[in-house]
Amino acid sequence: MISNVPPEFNVDISDRKCVKCKRCTKECGFDALSYSKEFDCIIADDSKCVACHRCVTFCPKNAITIRENQLAYKNNYNFTASVRKNIQKQANTGGILLTAMGNDRPYPIYWDHMLIDACQVTNPSIDPLREPMELRTYIGRKPDSLEFETVDGKLKLKTRIGPNIKIDVPVVFAAMSYGSVSYNVHKSLMKAAQNCGTLMNTGEGGLHKDFYEYKDNVIVQCASGRFGVHGDYLNAGAAIEIKVGQGAKPGIGGHLPGEKVDEEVSKTRMIPQGSDAISPAPHHDIYSIEDLSQLIYALKEATEYKKPISVKVAAVHNIAAICSGIVRAGADIVTIDGFRGGTGAAPLVIRDNVGIPIELALAAVDDRLRKEGIRNHASIICGGGIRHSGDVIKAIALGADAVMIGTSALVALGCRVCQKCNTGKCSWGIATQKPHLTARLDPEEGALRLTNLLNGWSHEIQEVLGALGVNSLESLRGNRERLRGIGLDEKTLEILGIKPAGR
Ligand code: SF4
Ligand code: SF4
Repeated sequence: MISNVPPEFNVDISDRKCVKCKRCTKECGFDALSYSKEFDCIIADDSKCVACHRCVTFCPKNAITIRENQLAYKNNYNFTASVRKNIQKQANTGGILLTAMGNDRPYPIYWDHMLIDACQVTNPSIDPLREPMELRTYIGRKPDSLEFETVDGKLKLKTRIGPNIKIDVPVVFAAMSYGSVSYNVHKSLMKAAQNCGTLMNTGEGGLHKDFYEYKDNVIVQCASGRFGVHGDYLNAGAAIEIKVGQGAKPGIGGHLPGEKVDEEVSKTRMIPQGSDAISPAPHHDIYSIEDLSQLIYALKEATEYKKPISVKVAAVHNIAAICSGIVRAGADIVTIDGFRGGTGAAPLVIRDNVGIPIELALAAVDDRLRKEGIRNHASIICGGGIRHSGDVIKAIALGADAVMIGTSALVALGCRVCQKCNTGKCSWGIATQKPHLTARLDPEEGALRLTNLLNGWSHEIQEVLGALGVNSLESLRGNRERLRGIGLDEKTLEILGIKPAGR
């Protein structure tokens, strides 16, 4: 059937500026640009353009302009252009609409409705350039109390403290699997995590054998498909994460198309080359908190109780009760992924309509764990739409121990959030396994860009801590008194546990 969906974008090539070097035709991963010998010019196929801006960035003459194709649809607030386009697409194919990256619908972003306090007259602020500011964070279970004993006349700690991981900045890289992203992306993330004293997360695709040397900076994931999970893998990470849910697609499994399963991905995932990697919606051995507890303790046994175990869930209704159960099941870290979290591929209907914002989920979970007296039993890592250091500070004040970033990290690597990762054609060499595209990302440069990003955020966090008059993140963690809400209704303020601005 011939598609009757108008192109999303128009690509204009300026005749006046173009020198016909043909670079743009090579840069476009989506084959939207070609050279016509007959007309001696560059021809754009608008229907293939995804606005990834690779051609625009690399055109030496600034000859390319990409515009949204706004005139294709008559304005309608109800049946918007995207609603009509999606109906037409489904009428063409009869299939599920797939998309990638995070929810981009105009739901409220509560981070932007929270403001941070600052010291003024009676409580002095601190100058972070002159005073040490502590961003170090320990991730893992903390004891309820400490007991000491005297051995040979010396005071010694009697309480056995479970495994904790020290991170130097309260930001870790979110789970992105090898297969959904390229080898060079994983290498960039690992090197940057090592440089910054933090963690990256393998996602559900296993750990390439080349990367075992980064083990102190890696969280290894154990998801429902168990791709790449074996004894050496579990012992190769600093922590293990059981992935139950993902913010972009709560309640459903994952699907890596066979085209992305090349030889290296197949070896790492332990699946045949070219076969679809489908992870089921549930773990087939988890149907209760008791089952989850069994898996947590099986993983602790397998790693001799040396590594903290995280359980990752999507932020959904009743998230506080879910996380309480997870902590009581023995998890050392609860990782909560909000509904703006990214993905390599997800059904549009799930990504845009299922789940809740991380701000509300985080506040509800921290509140519940405190009220139940078990907040110290697990660290909270949250993510799903963390965009800058301001979001990080607000998350810490709402109760997070650390945040995770996926989309922000990929943007630092060059991603333009064109939301076409599911096609495997990423022009920036990120969400693809095509060798001519993956070669575009230099892992050394990628690691440097990510390191710069985290260093920049660290400086900014220190500035804000100084303004708040505290010299460590620990003093801000869960301190909601230092936040105020603006433009929020009473119920939302109550859930967030903050006062309105002016109070
Ligand atoms: S890269 Fe720019 S100058 Fe070169 S052919 Fe394409 S549009 Fe023309
Ligand atoms: S990773 Fe690549 S395909 Fe995915 S949104 Fe970013 S630029 Fe687009």
